[in-house]
Amino acid sequence: MEMSAGSAISAGIGAVSADCRALATRARNDAFSFWKLPEQWRDALEPMILSSEFIAERFLFESYLSRQGYRQSRQTRACHKLKRLIPFPVRRRLNEATIRARVKPEFPHWPCESALLEFWSEWLRLSLGMLGRDDGWHIGFWPDGHQCCVVLTHDVESSSGFARIERIADLEERYGFRSAWNLPLTQYRIDWNLVTRLRARGFEFGAHGLSHDGRLFRSARDFASLAPIVERMAAAHGLRGFRAPSTPRDASWIATMAFDFDSSFSDTDPYEPWPGGTCSLFPFMLSRMVELPYTLAQDHTLIRLLHRSPLPVWVMKANWTASVGGMILTLTHPDYMGDGRLLGAYEDLLRMLAELPSAWRALPSEVAEWWRERSELQLSIENGGQPVIRRPGSRRATVRRLSEHPLAR
Ligand SMILES: [Zn+2]
Repeated sequence: MEMSAGSAISAGIGAVSADCRALATRARNDAFSFWKLPEQWRDALEPMILSSEFIAERFLFESYLSRQGYRQSRQTRACHKLKRLIPFPVRRRLNEATIRARVKPEFPHWPCESALLEFWSEWLRLSLGMLGRDDGWHIGFWPDGHQCCVVLTHDVESSSGFARIERIADLEERYGFRSAWNLPLTQYRIDWNLVTRLRARGFEFGAHGLSHDGRLFRSARDFASLAPIVERMAAAHGLRGFRAPSTPRDASWIATMAFDFDSSFSDTDPYEPWPGGTCSLFPFMLSRMVELPYTLAQDHTLIRLLHRSPLPVWVMKANWTASVGGMILTLTHPDYMGDGRLLGAYEDLLRMLAELPSAWRALPSEVAEWWRERSELQLSIENGGQPVIRRPGSRRATVRRLSEHPLAR
């Protein structure tokens, strides 16, 4: 896909349709809502705001991907059925070889894709130009004046992975972190007593579908019959977040699920069974849900598919994400890196993340709650020129100069 920030803006302005206006009542993903600019600027920027949402959501909902490549073909589905007859270790190696052999798409780039960041920057520059301004105010992206955000998540794929949870949780706690653990709800026996104990220590649990059998997103009929079961089981165990098993996903389907937040999307991940990426280093709205894309390469990708040492890629990406004020959201599996040298690499990552200056260490549920809260705040410039945040619940929000943000420079 060719989509430079400048050409995207001009293409999008022409493409604004009644659809955009029909969406006016829900939480938005337009550039004005991303930056949270003063409400006094809204009217003058209205056409720019509408077109920006159209463009941003092409990235965020991955609608730039061709549907043909995105959905599983009939042959792929048939192949999946046949594969079930192959012993698991052989099947896993076959899958890995298939993904390695795949031609890497040019877009989004991996491990860093800046197209959407450039779009947010360019949109702001053009908007300030239209308003005849050099600078202005906005509501900071993170609460309490933090400049970036760190979220640790894990998917637990097997009972042997489950048995390693506590050890990794202890390690994270030593560095001052708490993390989230996503569990496939019918794949193996879950010890809910351990879940209770870890929750008491501040850790969080989410639903990772029912199992990794590929059925949930296989067809609309499968989704319609299985999603309510996932939702019911998740509600019974107080699980408020969701991540699709093996991350097949469809923004319009996931948006209908009864969860507070989702984390099935990446910013860029060409190595998943369904390659793609939202290009976003920030949360965004997926209808009523908050989407928290994972932004650090998965351990499985680096270790099993690429045979690379994970730490250098993680450190580079984490530093880059922090430098643009974004959200570092890790996705690791105790199954793959729960012990030995790889656990040591994870500890090195924790040490590095713990030293990031002004980083907000948060659980997925906290980030989702904050993003929802921030989306409802309004910035207003009072008569004396003072910026004020309106709406209750704004205690943690801070007003910042645009020129202080790395994406606005
Ligand atoms: Zn999984």
